[in-house]
Amino acid sequence: MRTNAQAVVIGGGVIGCSILYHLTKLGWSDVVLLERDELTSGSTWHAAANIHGLHDSTNISRIQHYTMNLYNALEAETGQSCGVFQPGSLYLAQTEEREHQLRLQAAKAKLYGMNFYEISIEEAQRLNPLVNYDGIRCVMFEPDGGNVDPSGVTNAYAVGARQRGAEIHRFTPVTATEHQEDGTWIVRTPKGDIKTPWVVNAAGLWGREVAKLAEIELPLQPTEHQYFVTEAMPDVQAHGARLPSVSDRDGEYYLRQEGNGLLVGAYEKDMKFWAEDGTPLDFAHDLFPDDLERIEENMMNAIERLPAVGEAGIKRVINGPMIWSPDSNVLMGPVPEVDGYFCCNGIIPGFSQSGGMGLMAAQWIIEGETQYDMFAWDMARFDTWATKEFTKAKVQDQYAHRFAIHFPNEERGAGRPARVRPIYETQKAMGAVFGLNVGWEHPLWFADESGTVDTNGFTRQNWWAPVGEECKMLRERAGIIDISNFAKYICKGPGAADWLNAVFANTMPKAVGRSCLTPLISKRGGIAGDFTVTRVAEDEFWIIGSGMAERYHKRFFKQVPLPEGTTFESHTEAICGFNVAGPKSREILHRLTDTSLATEDFPFMRSAMIELAGVEVLAMRVSFTGDLGWELHCKTEDQAQLYEALLEAGKAFGAGPVGSRALMSLRVEKGYGSWSREYSPEYWPHEVELDRLCKFDKGFLNKGAAQKVLENPARERLVLLHLDEADVTASNADATGGEPIFKDGEGIGRVTSGTYGYTVGMSLALGYVKNAQPGDEVEVMVLGRPHKATILKEPPFDAKGEKLRA
Ligand SMILES: Cc1cc2nc3c(=O)[nH]c(=O)nc-3n(C[C@H](O)[C@H](O)[C@H](O)COP(=O)(O)OP(=O)(O)OC[C@H]3O[C@@H](n4cnc5c(N)ncnc54)[C@H](O)[C@@H]3O)c2cc1C
Repeated sequence: MRTNAQAVVIGGGVIGCSILYHLTKLGWSDVVLLERDELTSGSTWHAAANIHGLHDSTNISRIQHYTMNLYNALEAETGQSCGVFQPGSLYLAQTEEREHQLRLQAAKAKLYGMNFYEISIEEAQRLNPLVNYDGIRCVMFEPDGGNVDPSGVTNAYAVGARQRGAEIHRFTPVTATEHQEDGTWIVRTPKGDIKTPWVVNAAGLWGREVAKLAEIELPLQPTEHQYFVTEAMPDVQAHGARLPSVSDRDGEYYLRQEGNGLLVGAYEKDMKFWAEDGTPLDFAHDLFPDDLERIEENMMNAIERLPAVGEAGIKRVINGPMIWSPDSNVLMGPVPEVDGYFCCNGIIPGFSQSGGMGLMAAQWIIEGETQYDMFAWDMARFDTWATKEFTKAKVQDQYAHRFAIHFPNEERGAGRPARVRPIYETQKAMGAVFGLNVGWEHPLWFADESGTVDTNGFTRQNWWAPVGEECKMLRERAGIIDISNFAKYICKGPGAADWLNAVFANTMPKAVGRSCLTPLISKRGGIAGDFTVTRVAEDEFWIIGSGMAERYHKRFFKQVPLPEGTTFESHTEAICGFNVAGPKSREILHRLTDTSLATEDFPFMRSAMIELAGVEVLAMRVSFTGDLGWELHCKTEDQAQLYEALLEAGKAFGAGPVGSRALMSLRVEKGYGSWSREYSPEYWPHEVELDRLCKFDKGFLNKGAAQKVLENPARERLVLLHLDEADVTASNADATGGEPIFKDGEGIGRVTSGTYGYTVGMSLALGYVKNAQPGDEVEVMVLGRPHKATILKEPPFDAKGEKLRA
């Protein structure tokens, strides 16, 4: 066994083997995989191993397509059969909402050149005559869908990796991972130790236990999961060709051919946790006793749709464990607080995603960044606030609703509240409908009655009109928005200015009381973040960024060493904030402070520590609404006092609370981008018009990468689109994000944010397009159907910034 390696992968399931394979494919041959038992000894060996390409998320679709195409190539490369069957998959829509979802996916498939399209019921009947198509509204077909052999695939990755020099040691459990002072790791096993700069936790069902060896907690929880295989069926035998699999998600089961019978699996409502206190170390090729009663309801749905299932005998039942994260997406990426420790845990569709996840992991480890934006799958999206109780509640909800449609703007209630701020109860009593943001409850909108909840769908929902009222109130008078979700950092000390200049692309403000906007540049030269930096004293700066990216940003901040005597700390929990915005905001605030807020004394982009309603606040004259306004940041213990005073003062002007959905609409009216939608590492600075904020007369993190991408022409441009009123009225839906954009039948881009612009009376969308100019007519695929739209020349609200600077 090697004693030194470039990376040590722990776990020989399908994911660990794929990571090993991809590390070697990207050029690292000095890599080792350690498996405590045989390869496939966790969830892998007993998986149904269905493979799908299309997903609601574009980047997951890309990853799944890569994986689907890889299996045949892997087989050819290694000579190891992957047992690939690709008879295709039929996706059935029983409800209008499912039809919207599938049509949207089909439109995305067309844009990205993926194989997923609508077929007639007659064609579907020809492909799979066992299905009863009564009540089916539409059928989509994915010709590459099917299934693989779980152990064939895992072994093929292993063979491929070995052929490029990797070592695999079976029956070699990792017993300790010890971080060394020089940043490397010692991985201990009974057969010897390995020194390595990278530990990769791909321990699947034991992901928690392996993480704990490095004192890392992962929010994961295993559950049982069942499928059964029928005896051979005459109808299957008689068909002649292999039947396409059936994705009848409204029926909450999955189904495919296995031998001459059928395999039916279910995510039942009455789900069952397993190994809550830790996965047993002696568990390997084991299963649980059958418990078909638990999935009876799902089985009945399958029998109703494929009556032949009800007539067949059951040959075998598989009841095995799988391990889930709170949102059922993988926990992936380097642990931000610990150098050289990479996680890839909690993957539910391991066979649909193994190739792509292995590739992303290898890129992240070797190249420092993935080619696709993985923010939604980054393990940094959770932190210690995702407790065991929270994780369990979420996993229960995710499991039981595995096949439910996850609508745009949907907020699921399980496990909440996890974290609240002092004014939570006040907001609740005022009718706030809350959303979840990094564990925090925050008001999305305010209903007339306390206790109101969102309705969900692709079309306009119960919140659509009240959010419009909030927007109008703010634009006509003023509104008070809780912006406590923003991440807040304070950098203090003699080296603060130099350090911030070395991290951020823009030049830091030279004078006290000045603010600047600045991008943070990613390893490949894209946008890793956007921040407002304010100089509050000669040697003190406040930095405000995206709350949901706080742990993600840690990885960037730690790359630049802090000068001695200088500190950089998060104050996100200690500081809360409000944005008071709208034409009357100045008058409202004047009632609460002696400080003059007149433009000559307090111009746009200036800031000052002031006293407001007896509370010390950092007042910054900026507003994401695009309107006249101030951000007011106070100590968390003063939040209630400040809120009460703002609401009281606002009353006289007809101003009141405004939620984050209204804020999203208002910022789109002004054309402002937001993190993880318009700004992501996939976009270059000049594509989002942030290149003017990159100052090349100084050094900054990843400056060389930014210079390199700026040598290329923009691949796409961020534009604002106005959707045709008649089309959106007819569908009763606005764009929400992700909808493809076509011009003359050609896919030219996609929506990143969509909303109704209530105060400009326009349905709007921000999006990236290529080969299109302002004024061009295009089509936006809202609900997967073409909606006419025009690319705007300028934002419809305050294009010249006169209100902002008034
Ligand atoms: C019943 C069922 C049906 C499924 N059907 C599908 C499907 O149709 N399609 C699909 O895509 N997915 C399916 N899945 C999910 C799929 O099985 C998983 O996504 C996948 O197997 C996860 O692989 P993994 O490599 O992450 O983890 P695992 O398979 O759990 O592998 C982890 C490995 O790490 C090893 N290990 C643990 N601790 C140590 C240690 N200390 N030292 C060394 N080695 C260690 C273990 O022995 C194990 O081999 C199904 C799962 C179940 C339970």
